[in-house]
Amino acid sequence: MGGVSARLEDLPLRPDLRGQKPYGAPQAPLPVALNVNENTHPVPQDVADDILDSIARALRDVNRYPDREFTALREGFAEYLGHGLTRDQIWAANGSNEVLQHILQAFAGPGRTAFGFSPTYSMYPLLTRGTGAQWVSGTRAADYTVSASDAASQVADAAPDVVFLCAPNNPTGTPLHLDVVEAVYEAADGIVIVDEAYFEFAPADARSALTLLPGRERLVVSRTMSKAFAFAGARVGYLAADPALIDALRLVRLPYHLSALTQAAASAALRHAPVMLGMVDEIVAQRDRITATVEALGYTPHESWTNFVLFGGVDDPATTWQALYDQGVLIRDVGIPHHLRVTAGTADETTAFLDALASVGSAA
Ligand code: PMP
Repeated sequence: MGGVSARLEDLPLRPDLRGQKPYGAPQAPLPVALNVNENTHPVPQDVADDILDSIARALRDVNRYPDREFTALREGFAEYLGHGLTRDQIWAANGSNEVLQHILQAFAGPGRTAFGFSPTYSMYPLLTRGTGAQWVSGTRAADYTVSASDAASQVADAAPDVVFLCAPNNPTGTPLHLDVVEAVYEAADGIVIVDEAYFEFAPADARSALTLLPGRERLVVSRTMSKAFAFAGARVGYLAADPALIDALRLVRLPYHLSALTQAAASAALRHAPVMLGMVDEIVAQRDRITATVEALGYTPHESWTNFVLFGGVDDPATTWQALYDQGVLIRDVGIPHHLRVTAGTADETTAFLDALASVGSAA
């Protein structure tokens, strides 16, 4: 056999996956990486030490499978979320991506559809197609908002098995108010997922869809430790829903899907929630600084309740993206014409981005 490797097209791949593109945010080792909406502040040393102690203890039993029901971690999330939630209403997995995948495996799949208002999180269609279901795109207004009545009529027309409401929305930052969730829930027969990955960055008086859970057994609210919690590398996401819905997810998860080390690390981090979330106000301040400064440079930032800003008025996004890259600043071209997206970093990282953007010339 020679060393020539096969091409993807030569393999007996599922027909519905042919021609699909994998998730591909560039991972380049640049000094200022503001492209995937992480919390760029490292975990404080004393918290890291305590997490390490917990991992060390878990390591002593690592010859055994972990708690398949990750009971302590579910209790931790229930306590963190509040709203009277208990552990039988909580699920978790390796990132909220896997949490969403579990929902789609249980409630989408071949012959079924999942729906979201585009532009929205790019993994929704990929995860949907991965389960053999079809993705259906709804539309937003020009400013990326979606009203309750419009949302409800689009969902009623599409009659999807699963609806994604990204609140606030990635990649646009747009808030989504609870009247939209209520209207979509009424209009849908299927599962309604409110993805609150960025909820901690919303204004303090913003209301979570968690408040809508009682009496709505098809409603799911997902969260992640990857953003505000500064824990992206640990891969931990979670959700709250009716206990019956959680039972459905047990049908599709792999046994022991959350490793003992992940459970130990996440439970320890949760015990330090106020410290882990300590940088949120600072990140919000940097986000608002980005908004004000890119506007002063002649760009058009969109309202954001997240840790990133989408801004328009970019003549040629690919050229601006490359010019920033060449100055060591990595941001994201999300494929929206004349737009770029940047994550709010530390004050220094944010300054590096704003200086680099100013140096590439003004807006179109
Ligand atoms: N939902 C949204 C809206 C996101 O932006 C992301 C990450 N970019 C995720 C879910 C998934 O994050 P994770 O798997 O790290 O929890």
